[in-house]
Amino acid sequence: MSANPVRLSAINAVEAYVPPPISFDTGEEPGEIFGANVFSLSVMQKRLPKTVYKSVVETIEKSAPLDPDIADAVASAMKDWALEKGATHYAHVFYPLTGLTAEKHDSFLDPVGDGTAFASFSGKTLIQGEPDASSFPNGGLRNTFEARGYTGWDVMSPAYVLENPNGNTLCIPTIFISMTGEALDHKTPVLRSQQAMSAQARRVLELFGHTDPDNVVAYCGPEQEYFLVDSHFFLSRPDLINAGRTLFGAKPPKGQEFDDHYFGAIPERVLGFMMDTERELFKLGIPAKTRHNEVAPGQFEVAPMFERANEASDHQQLLMTTFKAIAKKHGMECLFHEKPFAGVNGSGKHVNFSLGNSELGSLLVPGDNPHDNAQFLVFCAAVIRAVHKYGGLLRVSVASASNDHRLGANEAPPAIISIFLGEQLADVFDQIAKGGATGSKEKGTLIIGVDTLPDLTKDPGDRNRTSPFAFTGNRFEFRAPGSLQTVAGPMVMINTIMAEALDFCATTLENAVAEGTDFDKAVQDLLSTIIIDHGAVVFNGNGYSDDWQVEAQQRGLKNLRTTVDALPELIAPEAIELFGKYGVFSDREMHSRYEIGIEQYVMTIGVEANLTLEIGNTTILPAAVRYQTELASNVAALKAAGVDADTSTLESVSAPLAALRVGLVDLAAAIAGAHQHEGLEEAAYCRDVILPAMAEVREAADTLEGLVADDLWALPTYQEMLYIL
Ligand code: ADP
Ligand code: MG
Repeated sequence: MSANPVRLSAINAVEAYVPPPISFDTGEEPGEIFGANVFSLSVMQKRLPKTVYKSVVETIEKSAPLDPDIADAVASAMKDWALEKGATHYAHVFYPLTGLTAEKHDSFLDPVGDGTAFASFSGKTLIQGEPDASSFPNGGLRNTFEARGYTGWDVMSPAYVLENPNGNTLCIPTIFISMTGEALDHKTPVLRSQQAMSAQARRVLELFGHTDPDNVVAYCGPEQEYFLVDSHFFLSRPDLINAGRTLFGAKPPKGQEFDDHYFGAIPERVLGFMMDTERELFKLGIPAKTRHNEVAPGQFEVAPMFERANEASDHQQLLMTTFKAIAKKHGMECLFHEKPFAGVNGSGKHVNFSLGNSELGSLLVPGDNPHDNAQFLVFCAAVIRAVHKYGGLLRVSVASASNDHRLGANEAPPAIISIFLGEQLADVFDQIAKGGATGSKEKGTLIIGVDTLPDLTKDPGDRNRTSPFAFTGNRFEFRAPGSLQTVAGPMVMINTIMAEALDFCATTLENAVAEGTDFDKAVQDLLSTIIIDHGAVVFNGNGYSDDWQVEAQQRGLKNLRTTVDALPELIAPEAIELFGKYGVFSDREMHSRYEIGIEQYVMTIGVEANLTLEIGNTTILPAAVRYQTELASNVAALKAAGVDADTSTLESVSAPLAALRVGLVDLAAAIAGAHQHEGLEEAAYCRDVILPAMAEVREAADTLEGLVADDLWALPTYQEMLYIL
């Protein structure tokens, strides 16, 4: 094969690749290594004075405020433990609004005057840090003269030791706030919204006879999809390196239509990577469980077991960092972008969520008796109300330039937010709606009361992969989040809109009972009110169909197709009121998140546009021109020899080449015009002017890929990146 030297050497390198010895074969039992690097409750129990340990548990289990007096004792035990684990540094780890993870490292060693050093780590350093925050997005929350941000220890999320060949680090999960206490991160609102949701859920539980129930926790089990690409190909693709996705590339002759990849055999090299990642995740106490191939070639999935949302979110970030690092060790690059390859299945991060606690289990599981089932139905109805009333907020929580390529593209749920209940539950709510409407107790009409509630089976068993928000038997699965996103964003929305819906349920029931209404009747009335007012969001059909777009509009459901359409949801008066009421975001914080959303969108597309221009001009155009010249000299030579020259190949190359030239000029002009716009308008300009200009360049380039001599084409092809591992 006469391939281009760049690609050929990459292919040869992949061919000659020898996997590193896999480190999982250490004779350790998974049980031994699980959580080995985590300063867990059981470690604390062993190492902390009894009263201190009890106080920490109170804070974690009951959300009791942290007693600052215990911080020194915890810090000291934590330091000793970390030093035993080989840590030389500690870091406050936080989650700024870039979506990445940030760390501020400090040494345990404090130099003392006489040239010696001793390890110091006090309660104060555990509880609070002051990183320079000026390089993190703040959406106008911080004045430039006040560049300081504060990190604060999150007791709920365990500290851990991160191993590194250059020395281990004690990592302390923290919140990140401005001097005035405004959230600059993803964790703070998760904690605030968790608290808000729990307060309202407990009111509902008390109505159902649970006296002083424990905190209600939001659980989250994220399913992470990702691609693996050999580093040699990755490094020859400036678009993958800088934008995380390919900006060029013709569809491979063999696509995913064969469906032979899904759940197929995992390549040996990938299996080695997976085992290595699993071992690392286990050490960090991350319960990674399932692994399988995904729909596209080169695409895989990992799903850790569900945990408290706050912890799941931290773990999810840590998982992504770990995957990136270990992939490199195995000579591969792990791609978390939602759409690294156009025309090939994209990657999502399904957020499975439920509410519950260790005392009561999941509140989204039908119970064994009708009384529990009534409670279950109230929680389900609350989800229906929340998703219907605030679908726009769920939509904006998953809005990003990269996820726009996925939502609504007939492989991921549509941008319209609806709920799938499954046949059984949908039928129950149907009957409730009818019963409520007639208000009668006639035969055949379901009355939700202790005596008449139907048996609910725990596993309705059916699935709908086209729904953005599906009930799956004991939880809901929010399928719109993108693979690159933190789960914190969606979880903040879910918690907050659930707080409002549960508040509504509790207030309605409390008022009815106070007026002397029988409780069962009050529940029945509540359920029918909710299903009548909000049932429009329930849709069990095919979310990919065009009919649904029309029907959803008739039902009054929002169809916010792009990030630009969705972002204003954040500053809509209802949203500001909602978040203010439940103490999750202030007006200023909402506006800052809106500004950051715009900033990130504009920045992402700006980078992609410039890359498209650069690669187009410096790689693709020269290849096409060279080939055109070769063809032209062939024609000239033939003519000179007096032979009939066939110019059709030359013409077929010249047409897309001309289109490429025009496209590149248009794109340059489009990029130059961006600065005339500001804010949401600039974002709209990116979507409406720059993205189409990029598409024009790409179309011409991808056509050329199928025409230009292979040895002149330097960019690794889709075929190579997706099928050679
Ligand atoms: P599927 O691909 O069929 O949706 P997976 O097994 O890949 O299922 O992933 C399911 C995810 O849902 C896992 O992360 C799992 O821990 C999580 N999950 C299971 N039960 C609950 C629950 N009650 N609450 C939240 N998440 C849950
Ligand atoms: Mg799933």
